Amino acid sequence: MEVLQRRCPDYTLFPSRCILCFNDCETIDHLFVSCPFVCRIWLEMTKELEIPWCNPVDLKTWLEQVSMTSHGDKRGTLFRAGTIAILWAVWMERNHRIFADKTNQWEEVWDFAKRCVASVTYGHKALKAWSWSHLCGGTYNS
Ligand SMILES: [Zn+2]
Repeated sequence: MEVLQRRCPDYTLFPSRCILCFNDCETIDHLFVSCPFVCRIWLEMTKELEIPWCNPVDLKTWLEQVSMTSHGDKRGTLFRAGTIAILWAVWMERNHRIFADKTNQWEEVWDFAKRCVASVTYGHKALKAWSWSHLCGGTYNS
């Protein structure tokens, strides 16, 4: 049994089911890579950054591909930062659903991930101009 599910199996309606889609078992690879809910977020990020989505088989493969990305420019930095932010945002969404009985749509989770990246880049002097909104033409303004 996956570590994620062992921690609090009684909090989910279906202990072996993914709380984001209810279509599959909650494994690390499903939760962070192959869950349809999460795939929409990955697809949106790769679309906005114009980086091909490679349909990774598992989280390890995905993180290896992200770390080896040849985009050494702002886009590559945002890609790596966005990946970490998405993992965090998905984990937060999973926990909100289980522990707080609150549900966000994938777009809201994606916005949260972008705000995480933007807050770091805007707050860091050296990265000030490396914002998601400047690169992607987004609407985030703070
Ligand atoms: Zn799922």
